Amino acid sequence: MEQLERDVVIVGAGPSGLTAAYELQKAGKSVAVLEARDRVGGRTWSETMDGATIEIGGQWISPDQTALYSLIGELGLETFPRYRQGKSIYRTEEGEVISYTGEDFPVDAETVAQMNRLTALINELAGQLDPDHPWAHPRAEELDRISFEQFLAANCPDEVARQNIGMFIAGGMLTKPAHTFSALQALLMAASAGSFDNLIDEDFILDRRIVGTMQGVSKALAARLGEQVLFLDNPVLRLEWSSEGVVAHGREVSVRASKVILAVPPNLYSRISYDPPLPRKQHITHQHQSMGLVIKVHAVYDTPFWREAGLSGTCFGPAALVQEIYDNTYHRETTGTLVGFISDVKADEVFAMDEQSRRAAILQDMAGYLGPQALDPKVFYLSDFGSEEWTRGAYATSYDLGGLYRFGPAQNENVGPIYFSSSDLAGAGYQHVDGAVRMGRRTAARIVAELDGTEADPVYDGTESFVTGGVHA
Ligand SMILES: Cc1cc2nc3c(=O)[nH]c(=O)nc-3n(C[C@H](O)[C@H](O)[C@H](O)COP(=O)(O)OP(=O)(O)OC[C@H]3O[C@@H](n4cnc5c(N)ncnc54)[C@H](O)[C@@H]3O)c2cc1C
Repeated sequence: MEQLERDVVIVGAGPSGLTAAYELQKAGKSVAVLEARDRVGGRTWSETMDGATIEIGGQWISPDQTALYSLIGELGLETFPRYRQGKSIYRTEEGEVISYTGEDFPVDAETVAQMNRLTALINELAGQLDPDHPWAHPRAEELDRISFEQFLAANCPDEVARQNIGMFIAGGMLTKPAHTFSALQALLMAASAGSFDNLIDEDFILDRRIVGTMQGVSKALAARLGEQVLFLDNPVLRLEWSSEGVVAHGREVSVRASKVILAVPPNLYSRISYDPPLPRKQHITHQHQSMGLVIKVHAVYDTPFWREAGLSGTCFGPAALVQEIYDNTYHRETTGTLVGFISDVKADEVFAMDEQSRRAAILQDMAGYLGPQALDPKVFYLSDFGSEEWTRGAYATSYDLGGLYRFGPAQNENVGPIYFSSSDLAGAGYQHVDGAVRMGRRTAARIVAELDGTEADPVYDGTESFVTGGVHA
C-alpha cells in the first residue's frame, strides 16, 4: 500500500472532483484524486463504435452554463451545435405522427393554451426560487408536500397538456415518475436552468456539444494535474477522520490529508465506511437522495436519412416508449446518429425483456416516428448507468417527497474535514456538468479559505475560477 500526504484528497475523478483538484492545485495546494473506475469522467464517458463517436453519458451544454463554458475556455476546448434544421415530429398517445415547426406541439388550441398557462405558472414560481436555497422559498414546505403529479392536476384540467409539460421534468430530467417527487423538486429543476422556458426549449438546453466530447473536459483536467496526483482503480471504501484531518484508503494508495472532498453522487456516500461514523443528520439525509433511471439509446446509420426528408431528427412522444429523439451525429462525421431516451417505468419495462425483444421494441418505436429506415442501424447501443457500480442510475439524484425541504439545508454542510461536491448538490446547473464544475470550484474555494485562515467569499458562485477570477487574484 502506497502512503501519501497531501493538503486535500479528492474521492472521485468526475468533472466535479477534477475541477476541485485543478483549482486547489492552481491555488498552491497539494492534492491526490482517488478514482474507483479505470477511467476519468464519471457520468461523462465516450467510446468510438464502428467509427462513430458515442457519448454514453452527459454531452450537451446550454448558453447559460457559464461555469462549464469558462472551464472549457480555460482548457482550450471548442464546441459545435446540435443539428436542428427541418421539421420536428410529435407523436400522439394514439400513435398519430405529426410534423411541425415552431415552439408549440401540434395539439389542439385549448391544449396549447393550457400548456402555456402551466408553463407561465412554473416560470413564475421557479423565478421566485433561489436554486441554491429552494427550501427558503416562503411556500417551500407546502410545495414539498405535494407530488409534481398532484401539482399538475391541481393547476391544469387538460390531461394531454399535463402529460406534455410533465415530460420535461419527470421523464426528461429527474427521470422518475411525477408522483414520486415534489413540486418543490420540480421547481428547483426549472430554476437551476434559469427558467422553465429554458428547460423546455430543446434548442436552448440541448444547444451545443464539445469537440473531443464531454468526457474530454475531464481528460483535459486530468492531463493538467501532473504526476502522482490521479490514481485510477482505487475505490475509497474506508475513511478515517477527526478534527485534525483524514486518511482515505484506496485499493493501493492511502492518503493522509487535512481535508477530503467526496466528489461522488450522494447515493454512493454510504459505500464508504466512516471511522468514526458520520453524524445522525448526514446518515438520515443521505438516505433520501436517490438516482433516477433513464436509458440513452444510440443508433448509428450510414447516413442521416431523416435530413433528406426535411426532418431535424427531433421527435417527442410523451406517451411513447422512446419519449424524445434527437439528431446526435458527432462533429464532422458523415454517418447519422440518433439518440433516444426511455425513462423510469418504461426503462423498467424494456430492461425486463430479453436482448432481442428489447432491440426490436425500441427500434420499432423509433421507426414509429421516422419510418422503417430507423429499423436497421449499424450500431445499436444502450447506455446503462443503472448497472454501473460507481453510479447506479441516471442522470442524477433527487429527493423523495418532502426530502428537499427537510434535508436539503444539510446537503452542503461539511462534516469537520469532510466536504461534499457533485452536480447533484448544485443550485444553478443542478444535475448538469455545469453544476459539477460550480460545486468543484466552490468547494475548493471554501477549503482554500479554511486552510489559509481567510474568509470564504459567501457569494462566490463558481462561474469563474476563483484563482484567476477574483478571490485569490
Ligand atoms: C446518460 C446520461 C446523460 C447525461 N446527459 C447530460 C447532458 O447532456 N448534459 C449535462 O450537462 N449533464 C448530463 N448528464 C449529467 C452529468 O453527466 C453529471 O451531472 C456529471 O457527470 C456529474 O459530475 P460529478 O463529478 O458530480 O459526478 P460523476 O460524474 O458521477 O463522477 C463521480 C466519480 O466518482 C467515482 N466514485 C464513486 N464512488 C467512488 C469511491 N467510493 N471511490 C472513488 N471513486 C468513486 C465515480 O467512478 C465517478 O468517476 C448526464 C448523465 C447521464 C448518466
